[in-house]
Amino acid sequence: MSESERAGEKTGGEPVACHECDALQCLPLLGRGQIARCHVCHAKLLRVPRGGLDRPIALFSAALILLLVANSLPFMTLDIQGRRAITTIFGASQALYEAGMGGLALAVFLTSIAVPALLILSSLYVLLDIRFALSLPGVRVALSWISHLQPWGMLDVFMLGVLVAFVKLGDTARMHVGVALIAYAGLIVLSAAASAAFEPGYLWRRLRRQRARRAR
Ligand SMILES: [Zn+2]
Repeated sequence: MSESERAGEKTGGEPVACHECDALQCLPLLGRGQIARCHVCHAKLLRVPRGGLDRPIALFSAALILLLVANSLPFMTLDIQGRRAITTIFGASQALYEAGMGGLALAVFLTSIAVPALLILSSLYVLLDIRFALSLPGVRVALSWISHLQPWGMLDVFMLGVLVAFVKLGDTARMHVGVALIAYAGLIVLSAAASAAFEPGYLWRRLRRQRARRAR
């Protein structure tokens, strides 16, 4: 079965319990981009992604490339009284640690490097497994952890901190934007688009169906 056929797969008649009000009902037949809502409380029961799984796979792959660029090239260059300092995101976290701010260094490292990397990699792992029916180990654990990890990826908060630093240090130092900063801005946009195209309810359903097919 092709990906396009699978994405518009038949949902009609499948029994499902609403996660908000527990009302038991049958899913209607859904096409791409369509949403099934609870007939009692109108909570979202299932949404079939418009672009199938190829769209989130493409967006997360592009985000992974930007994350690598953002973490390997200079983030910004600082000129203070004739001295020039070039830093990367990891370098900024390291500098905070060396300045005695261990907690802040760890927060910067986790929210701007570790969690976004883990989110992108685990999302790709789950999506590729389901898209190509690979039966990789640990997919169900990865899918359940993704929703727990999402609140801890704070790319935009880190970016806001950088912009505040730009304004505050504007009088005392000359700051030059590095390639990584532009990549980081692109990463924020791509991550938001990829998360919007990521439908956990639909992915759980696809996993259940794959498992049922294998058990037959
Ligand atoms: Zn309901």
